[in-house]
Amino acid sequence: MKSIATLGSHCALQVLKGAKDEGFQTVLICEKNRLPLYNRFKMIDQIIVVNKFSEIVKKENLDKLNEFDSILIPHGTLISEVGIKATENELKVPIFGNRNILRWEAERELKEELMIKAELNPPNSISDPKDINKLSIVKLPGAAGGKGYFLANDFDSFNKGLEKLGKKDIPKEDLYIQDYIIGVPVYFHYFYSILTNEVELLGIDRRYETSIDGFGRLPSEIQSENNFDPSYIVVGNQPLVLRESLLEEVYKMGERFVKAAEKIVPPGMIGPFCIEGIYDQDAKFIPFEFSARIVAGTNLFVNGSPYTDLTYDKPVSMGRRISMEIKDAVKKGKIESVTT
Ligand code: AMP
Repeated sequence: MKSIATLGSHCALQVLKGAKDEGFQTVLICEKNRLPLYNRFKMIDQIIVVNKFSEIVKKENLDKLNEFDSILIPHGTLISEVGIKATENELKVPIFGNRNILRWEAERELKEELMIKAELNPPNSISDPKDINKLSIVKLPGAAGGKGYFLANDFDSFNKGLEKLGKKDIPKEDLYIQDYIIGVPVYFHYFYSILTNEVELLGIDRRYETSIDGFGRLPSEIQSENNFDPSYIVVGNQPLVLRESLLEEVYKMGERFVKAAEKIVPPGMIGPFCIEGIYDQDAKFIPFEFSARIVAGTNLFVNGSPYTDLTYDKPVSMGRRISMEIKDAVKKGKIESVTT
């Protein structure tokens, strides 16, 4: 019997709960200091203890995972702590989904290319900060969870922003500068089943970000009298349901993304992904990012979401949906088509 494994952070609890619900054995790769947390949960059958997540590629840990006949579920922590290169070359265990697409999420130019191919046109980006002439968001390399983002109106405010962050000497080509879109940020949680050839929408969230989400609580004169610099650090996620009339376009965006990924990153987008963007003042959706794997916002829906309630006759989280797909693939003798 195969087991489902993942790194102990991000959405591990949801993934392993879903695996257990579908009858799999579960394996957690856990950093020592996080053991007290994960020991509280009964759905974890095996724990591989490491000092740092990056040790997962050590032979003894890979041997254990293979001994447990594990399929590893990638999430944000795999990308940030183990890294794309090691995941591509050293992580010799089957991964659910397409391990090659993770690089397209992590590298700005590749990301933009895939989005444009999918007709998910991101906000205008600027390569030379001297060209900033309207409200723009500056994203520092490796910024995770919105940390290290700042706003600039022109070259002068750009330089001041960098200085405040103590990053004056950063190579300008490492920065990503984008038009700032004012509106409502929305994150769509999709799942593409290669077995049924269907794009499913499992949930929607918006992030709760400090301190930008606190500014709306201040009267405008207090805002303008004080020189606040907003930050975009994610502290949580809020569930969202969309106006029903906007839903069809959401499915179409997911389908375009899957089609584009199939063409340019074989074997394409398999399993969970997320398109992230902002509805502007005309309720037009402007995508600015995608994630080519499960996102943490899906943790809201451990017990299913309004959208999964419409599709399944049981509570289905993204974690459970992944295990349902693996189970189905095993049954149909197609496990190679959902793993890389
Ligand atoms: P990201 O790390 O790209 O998902 O972005 C983190 C947060 O920054 C988002 O949730 C938004 O609040 C904000 N953000 C990113 N890009 C833009 C943009 N082009 N316009 C407005 N806000 C943005």
